Amino acid sequence: TLGDKVYKLVCFIKEGQKALLADYITLFINNQWVDSKSGKTFENFNPATEEKICDIAEADAEDVNEAVKSAAAAFKRNSKWRTMDASARGKILIRVGEIMMEQKHIISSLETLDAGKPYADSLGDVEHAADVFKYYAGLADKSLGKTLSPDGQYFAYTRQEPIGVCGGIIPWNYPISLFAWKVAPALASGNVCVIKPSELTPLTALHMAAIFSEAELPAGVLNVLPGYGATAGATLASHPGVRKIAFTGSTATARKIIALTANNLAKLTMELGGKSPAVILPDCDLDQAALYCHSAIMTNCGQNCCGISRNYVHADVYDEYVAKAVACAQNRVVGDPWKEDSESGSVISEVQMNKILGYIESGKREGAKLECGGERIGSKGWFLQPTVFSNVTDEMTIAKEEIFGPVQSILKFTDIEDVLDRCNDNEYGLAAACFTKDVDKAMYLSHNLKGGITWVNCADILTTQTPFGGFKGSGYGKELGEDAMKEYCEMKTVLMKMSNKNS
Ligand code: NAD
Repeated sequence: TLGDKVYKLVCFIKEGQKALLADYITLFINNQWVDSKSGKTFENFNPATEEKICDIAEADAEDVNEAVKSAAAAFKRNSKWRTMDASARGKILIRVGEIMMEQKHIISSLETLDAGKPYADSLGDVEHAADVFKYYAGLADKSLGKTLSPDGQYFAYTRQEPIGVCGGIIPWNYPISLFAWKVAPALASGNVCVIKPSELTPLTALHMAAIFSEAELPAGVLNVLPGYGATAGATLASHPGVRKIAFTGSTATARKIIALTANNLAKLTMELGGKSPAVILPDCDLDQAALYCHSAIMTNCGQNCCGISRNYVHADVYDEYVAKAVACAQNRVVGDPWKEDSESGSVISEVQMNKILGYIESGKREGAKLECGGERIGSKGWFLQPTVFSNVTDEMTIAKEEIFGPVQSILKFTDIEDVLDRCNDNEYGLAAACFTKDVDKAMYLSHNLKGGITWVNCADILTTQTPFGGFKGSGYGKELGEDAMKEYCEMKTVLMKMSNKNS
């Protein structure tokens, strides 16, 4: 069974941890594993046990300069990468996807160790990430322009060109998926990358560097720099040699990065926070709605940017829905991420746990009804009970701010126009959902909800083929799907004067 395999792998990692991780705890620059210039390292912890996993080399400004230099060299006109057939780039990405699948148990184990998420979830993320590489491999030679008919005696066409050095700045909640979302379209389009994973979860990004090496990506095309945001991240964002920054993280950090890119005018993709609503109408399949909305806020302990954190439930089914949500939360198995039946593991850190507990206190203080949960579980590892609040009103802090934890808020409504205004009256606009069997209402709601992705009769479903990205305070630009390729290209127009000579 999966449990047995995982158990064997954990033993393997525990006994051979040094051997397994030893090659992948330094910086990856120009296809070389190197220590940071400063010689500094930082500690990496397992959030489910609070035990130290290893020390990791810490990149800062000097290392970023070196990585950008090596990436820029790999992007030079006539370089191996620039002159490679587009389909050959695709073949490297296919090979990366294949190696990931061969090594999926190792990568998933690293992810679970580092992020505290259930092994089955890590495995799902790794398989998804491998699919993302294969999907963009197929698009590598399909980046098309247009032929145009300009006035006068001219002929013109447009072509999509790679931008150059792309910086990727990644958070800790979905480390392997978000690595793939950034690197796959960037390389498929012919760019070169410098990636800074979160200081809390650098292990899988480093392992991916080794996989790219094995897939024979030319030196300098992908560089991975573990380090802190204020040093490595900020240097990368403002670096004059960087032409594009793809960032996933908090809105507060996004503002800093946008200010930093005033320096280099880098093109930006911003995937930020959310406070996504669901509207639950009385005619829907209530069990299905309760299950989707439960899963959409409790998966990954609610550390999910597009989690459904506000449930607007019609008064006619409100009490019934609350009972179903509470039953789902109480039945959820939270515990050791290596156990096969664990549906939730630990949250990422003590800081994150205390932030979530602070929001739970604010909910109680401001008059919401705590239906279940609300407490830490045990005293080792950062485990939290799935928490459900009913009688939540719009002005409460838990209805307005992103909690990024397993906290479901249930609000009541009676009128569709009114609920649309209430859903949209929030600084974020990442995702939204509605549940109804009435196709007219589904169309009206999905048309008017301000969410970059809007689900009907489902929630928190992302596919490789469908673009994902927010509105308003949730950012701009799209990841996944064909549209993400445009984020990594700039369009050139070539205009030619047609000759009027016949010979
Ligand atoms: P964060 O903003 O603190 O950090 C994200 C990344 O930015 C990390 O790698 C960090 O080191 C780096 N960083 C921090 N300060 C920086 C600076 N001054 N300059 C450059 N880089 C800097 O976010 P987090 O706590 O890691 O992640 C949680 C947040 O991410 C939540 O708000 C969540 O909603 C958001 N998120 C959004 C999406 C999405 O796709 N929209 C997905 C996942 C997470």
